[in-house]
Amino acid sequence: MPRPHKTRAPVHYRVEMPDLHTHLYQVTLTVPEPEALQRLTLPAWIPGSYLIREFAKNLQDLQARQGRRALDVVQTGKSSWEVACKPGQPLQLAYTVYANDASVRTAWLDASRGFFNGTSLCLRAEGHAQGPHALEIRAPKARSAWSVATGLTALQVNPQGFGTYLAADYDELADCPIELGAFWSGTFKACGVPHRFVVAGATPSFDGARLLADAQKICETAIRFWHGTRKPPHKQYVFMLNAVDDSYGGLEHRNSTALICGRRDLPRLGEPKSSDGYTTLLGLISHEYFHTWNVKRLRPAEFARYDYSQENYTRLLWFFEGFTSYYDDLLLRRAGLIDDATYLKLLAKATNQVLQTPGRRVQTVAQASFDAWVKYYRQDENTPNATVSYYTKGSLVALCLDLTLRHEGKTTLDDVMRALWKRCAGGPMTEADLRAELASLAGRSLDHELDQWVHGTAELPIADLLAAHGVALQPEAPQLAQRLGLRVTENHRVQIKTVLRGGPAEKAGMAAGDEWLGLDVKGQGWRIQRLEDVAFYAGPAQQVTAVVARDGRLLQMPLALPAVAPATSKPAGQRGRKAAAATPDTIRLTASDSAALARWLA
Ligand SMILES: [Zn+2]
Repeated sequence: MPRPHKTRAPVHYRVEMPDLHTHLYQVTLTVPEPEALQRLTLPAWIPGSYLIREFAKNLQDLQARQGRRALDVVQTGKSSWEVACKPGQPLQLAYTVYANDASVRTAWLDASRGFFNGTSLCLRAEGHAQGPHALEIRAPKARSAWSVATGLTALQVNPQGFGTYLAADYDELADCPIELGAFWSGTFKACGVPHRFVVAGATPSFDGARLLADAQKICETAIRFWHGTRKPPHKQYVFMLNAVDDSYGGLEHRNSTALICGRRDLPRLGEPKSSDGYTTLLGLISHEYFHTWNVKRLRPAEFARYDYSQENYTRLLWFFEGFTSYYDDLLLRRAGLIDDATYLKLLAKATNQVLQTPGRRVQTVAQASFDAWVKYYRQDENTPNATVSYYTKGSLVALCLDLTLRHEGKTTLDDVMRALWKRCAGGPMTEADLRAELASLAGRSLDHELDQWVHGTAELPIADLLAAHGVALQPEAPQLAQRLGLRVTENHRVQIKTVLRGGPAEKAGMAAGDEWLGLDVKGQGWRIQRLEDVAFYAGPAQQVTAVVARDGRLLQMPLALPAVAPATSKPAGQRGRKAAAATPDTIRLTASDSAALARWLA
């Protein structure tokens, strides 16, 4: 039974790193006033990444004591324990956590760097979660160059940041990851708010000043988007970027974000032009920073209070991830960090991703949101045929709403976002709130559009809406893999990852997992090593025999090769929906009316 909250001394965690290369954090948790039967749990997931990860798998050697008396720890579930305690005496728990995941979602520790989320390291003392939590981080021996970066409030720390931090409750502790190491660090102010940017793993060619200047522009553009000249809800913000050989991702938090990128994506000294990789990194920075408002504060009503022990379902990820994806690149354009042509290239890429996903006819973005736990985060060979991304299609829903509102001339999606923020006081919201604000600002209901685009699988009217805003959408010749209806990996051999619904490869009988060895063209056999070899050896032939290996057998399959010309209609067999028949697989976008385009992108 929950007992009434009273002011208590903080729950206290001491984190030590006695032996860095074992990947083990040593944690000592003190609960000053434990319950008679003190329950302890570790989260099964981390907010922002919708998959049950069962962080308890990395927790080991859990021991409990009161004073000098060792207590029994009874495990009651995969992530829960109980300890019978004497009242009025602090309970101390000691355990270690194995930290060998370089992603932003769990924890990492080795001789070069440390990183952790509270969800991986901090047992939750049930009955105390609403009260204050102190986190003491002890500096590892023989690492005098290491520092700490975190969004937590420092209580008593040394110049490197080692010492004690304070969180108002368990949620805040869990929402403030910690970066440890000899990282690069810089600061800037955005609209008066102090921001810190730390980068682990940077090379000597890294242009830190450039990154700071560009991040500052992004942050100022985002703050002005939401608040004009008024103050944002966060008093400080920390970017924690880990640059590695090859990876990409980010996780949003209330006043920080953990990012990971390839080292080659960092801006380089003496390189005036942005590389595509750096533009992608700026998009990631913009995306996670926009989440400071859209999902960390304005958030699904179902996330009003997280249940860390199980899936927290919402049908609104198309709004929180999709609309954030619409604004991430748009704010780069508004911040002057990319030009119109680059913006249209990024928009065409997102559009093509959706058009090349047969699953958009099977699943709505509201369903995709609810199913994130078992589908988006657990992708397999069937994913493109059965699901649609609430990120990419959600961003196109935002685009269609924005352009519809702008075309009608009464309001814009920007105004709707700000009105929603006010209506929900920067807190939990429902789809009904969005519908109400749309109707109120647009002067008419947009229920029909949302029913079609969010709760239906009809094609989005992108071409017409873009044309009204100075952008021409033209079909483009699809890539060979797309023409064949395949996703493959190529490593001196062609391995089939996915066979797309309704395409020539499916009709031929190919299956995910097949190795495509070669083809027979008019009685001549050819070995292929990359997909492009199919076009090379087939030449003008429209009918060939594909040779594939499956489960140790060689199979021969008659394959009809599609024409090279731009596909202006879907391959036959895609359920013959009339609206879809006119939609090409692959498009490009070009500016047709720069004044109209400027009115939208400005
Ligand atoms: Zn996101």
